[in-house]
Amino acid sequence: MTEQFQCRKCGSGWGGLNTCHCQRCHVTFSTVANFDRHQRGGECLTPKDAGLVRNGRRYECYGQPGEQERAARMQGKDSGGLTGVEGLPVPEAAFGGVSS
Ligand SMILES: [Zn+2]
Ligand SMILES: [Zn+2]
Repeated sequence: MTEQFQCRKCGSGWGGLNTCHCQRCHVTFSTVANFDRHQRGGECLTPKDAGLVRNGRRYECYGQPGEQERAARMQGKDSGGLTGVEGLPVPEAAFGGVSS
């Protein structure tokens, strides 16, 4: 599986347009804001020191804790909550509670 973008130096790949790959320490971040967090005074912090965690993508990518869940929730809202015609919970949710 090839990702959309790939670093020619370290060979790691990533897929998102907002995703940032540091050309100095070769760590991938989910957003520019998180990329900024790992730089302090022109030095690269480790993701751990910057308070960032693996954000659950299939490739190594760091973001803020909880970031991925928030994104997933927002996507769920987009798919069902915009029109507001029904105003009822999605019936599937009642049966889908077991999946993590
Ligand atoms: Zn860096
Ligand atoms: Zn790289």
